[in-house]
Amino acid sequence: MKAAVIGAGLAGCEAALQLAKRGIEVDLYEMRPLKTTGAHKTDNPAEFVCSNSLGSLDPTNASGLLKKEMQMMGSFLIQEAIKAAVPAGNALAIDREAFSLSIKKLIEENEKINFIRKEITQIPQDIPVITASGPLTSEALAENIKEFAGEEHLHFFDAIAPIVEKDSINFDIAFYASRYDKGEASYINCPMNKEQYEKFYNILINAPKIELKEFEKDAKFFESCLPVEVLASRGVDTLRYGPMKPVGLIDKRTGEKNYAVVQLRQDNLSATMYNLVGFQTNLKWGAQKELVHSIPGLENANILRYGVMHRNTFINSPKILTPSLQCRKRKDLFFAGQITGTEGYTESMATGMLAGINMARFLRGETLLELSGVSMLGALTRYISSEEHKNFQPVNSNWGIVDELAADKKIKKNKKMKTEMLSKRAIEWMESFLENGV
Ligand SMILES: Cc1cc2nc3c(=O)[nH]c(=O)nc-3n(C[C@H](O)[C@H](O)[C@H](O)COP(=O)(O)OP(=O)(O)OC[C@H]3O[C@@H](n4cnc5c(N)ncnc54)[C@H](O)[C@@H]3O)c2cc1C
Repeated sequence: MKAAVIGAGLAGCEAALQLAKRGIEVDLYEMRPLKTTGAHKTDNPAEFVCSNSLGSLDPTNASGLLKKEMQMMGSFLIQEAIKAAVPAGNALAIDREAFSLSIKKLIEENEKINFIRKEITQIPQDIPVITASGPLTSEALAENIKEFAGEEHLHFFDAIAPIVEKDSINFDIAFYASRYDKGEASYINCPMNKEQYEKFYNILINAPKIELKEFEKDAKFFESCLPVEVLASRGVDTLRYGPMKPVGLIDKRTGEKNYAVVQLRQDNLSATMYNLVGFQTNLKWGAQKELVHSIPGLENANILRYGVMHRNTFINSPKILTPSLQCRKRKDLFFAGQITGTEGYTESMATGMLAGINMARFLRGETLLELSGVSMLGALTRYISSEEHKNFQPVNSNWGIVDELAADKKIKKNKKMKTEMLSKRAIEWMESFLENGV
């Protein structure tokens, strides 16, 4: 039995490894380095293109629950991410290079997987296929998917934050702390007083942006990854109540409260690179330099990578997919990853895992898995395949999509108690679901 997987990104690698685990031979196609996406920097499989964080590991957090479910279902990529973790408080952040290289090794050493460097321009007809070509699917393939799906593709844009060299940060001003002292004090914080914030805000609001192309003018952004200049344009205080909020961040050396704080998160295992949290941007590089250098503590920061913006492509899944990620009109075709409209690194890996398991089950003539909406992965796949949407937009893991708890006003009012119960219910459901293995 054999299948093809298009794209060795987060979803494609997970799908290929799941297929191989179940004895299916896999042709895994990756176009890099022959053709680039514009965002990927290496030719490694499973590259993280922007932030190095996968979000919370706490199972009472929506993204944390998804990770827990993936661990229970045997996700290869989550396991490797945990091995490549760098300190980031309660979140799972990784050394992206160590992670990609470990996935590359798993793939190259797997005798069931043929890793082929080639751009696929048409969905193959003569072999079962998982399409996991991501938000930056090559144009030729996107055109072919559009023809197959009979639906218009939707384009929108995401943005990358600048990364600076740690040794160039001025620690007379910057200080280590995690918000409210939670977890390790692994974030570097650059504090601002009112005057400094206003100066910074003026630079930001007047900074030149990279001109959008005609077809990009109607851009829609991931709400969770909005460019810093877009947030700033919503009002002078929007950033102070968003990524630059000063609450819970006090410099123990001075004990002073700040007006605003820029946080930097560790980006590699050796802790030499730090990214500016929430600073994904489309500003011109000269303007980014001026802006970064206006932040107290970063006056002389060495910028290792500038922020950029990119296209994002996703299919109209409610019309195309079932909750098992199988195409409605071609049963031996599955989609996985960001292209399905599940948004985020963890979500991409999770749908890759489910598509891989389900393709193996399809090839063996077994019933496909459809997960309950009490689980986060079940809720996500149900959401993207629900025909009820009028204007389908990508979604990431969140409590709003899972099945409600039985009516009890007391629980519904207590958010902490509610998420604990939702999480417990999901884990118990998953335990019994997995009793006989998948
Ligand atoms: C610029 C940018 C920043 C992002 N930032 C974040 C973030 O900070 N946090 C977050 O959670 N999510 C982020 N995302 C969203 C998303 O989680 C990631 O893009 C994630 O990598 C998606 O996983 P994937 O497997 O679907 O796609 P990818 O990881 O992109 O993998 C797809 C692979 O398919 C290959 N490919 C494409 N077309 C072809 C073809 N025709 N033939 C063969 N191979 C092909 C590509 O080269 C790529 O390797 C971001 C997305 C973008 C575009």
